[in-house]
Amino acid sequence: MCDRIENNCSFTFSSHGAFPYPDVHHSLFALPSGLEMVTCSRQEGMLCVALLSTQPVSHCPACGSAATRIRSRYQRRLTDLPSTGQPVRVLLTVRKFFCDMPTCPRKIFTGRLAPFVAPSARMTARLFQMIQIIGLATGGRLGVRVTDPMGIQTNRHTILRRIMALHAEPVGHVPQIGIDDFSFKRGRTFGTLLVNMQTHQVVDVLADRKVETSAAWMASHSEIELVSRDRGGDYASAAATGAPQAVQCADRFHSMKNLREALEGCLARHLATKRATRKPKKQSTHTVLLSMPLDRSDVHRRLSIFNRRIERNAWPVMSR
Ligand SMILES: [Zn+2]
Repeated sequence: MCDRIENNCSFTFSSHGAFPYPDVHHSLFALPSGLEMVTCSRQEGMLCVALLSTQPVSHCPACGSAATRIRSRYQRRLTDLPSTGQPVRVLLTVRKFFCDMPTCPRKIFTGRLAPFVAPSARMTARLFQMIQIIGLATGGRLGVRVTDPMGIQTNRHTILRRIMALHAEPVGHVPQIGIDDFSFKRGRTFGTLLVNMQTHQVVDVLADRKVETSAAWMASHSEIELVSRDRGGDYASAAATGAPQAVQCADRFHSMKNLREALEGCLARHLATKRATRKPKKQSTHTVLLSMPLDRSDVHRRLSIFNRRIERNAWPVMSR
């Protein structure tokens, strides 16, 4: 009983009680083993797929023992990767199992379907990864411009959350660090950025720019030999406390910035002195004429001269 996908029509159970062409739908939707497609319909511009978990065994998340006794079923609503530009909604029926381990505090648990979907997640793992990839390549606002045409319904906040969910790599060995503040929200909340001066890569981000926070971070990295910082006092005292063995230096950016500000001040003072000692400029004849009131008769005279000149220089009309 298979129909072509059209508006408001659906693939349904066949008369044998199973979805037709099981190999085809597994290939089309890349479903993992243990999941069967029950229906596929198109509603309100999106594909709605009903999946049924058929896994006979699941492992208890508390004790890890294999459970086979099924207690009940319940349904989860998920979002999946779009198909042919259409959003895909999944109605997933999963099994609940009894944990028969007497010592286990967990008596009932829901069957795990990793890596297809994480427990309690509202989207499939592959959609989660796709949003992460788009977010890393484009960012929050730009990411929405990419996901909308693709049929992925999300927003910039979700994209940013997916990026933040990525596991950060361990900091590793950083003998030379650069430290400076930056604003999470311009002029309001600030954090601290730490850069490996040898690789020019950001190694860590601290939630504030307090001396104690930076000093604690440096104290956990005894290999620090050099701290490149601004010329303020906070990071200098943080380095003195957290990494007293390290040599401190002003970084190139702040040195150049301070030099530029000093030069600007010096030149401004020099210019002000020069302007104060300059003699008043003599007014030109042109300026004097422009500042004189207009004589109406003079304007008419000049206009008539101008018109005569135009007529005199006009191209002659060629007679045929
Ligand atoms: Zn258990």
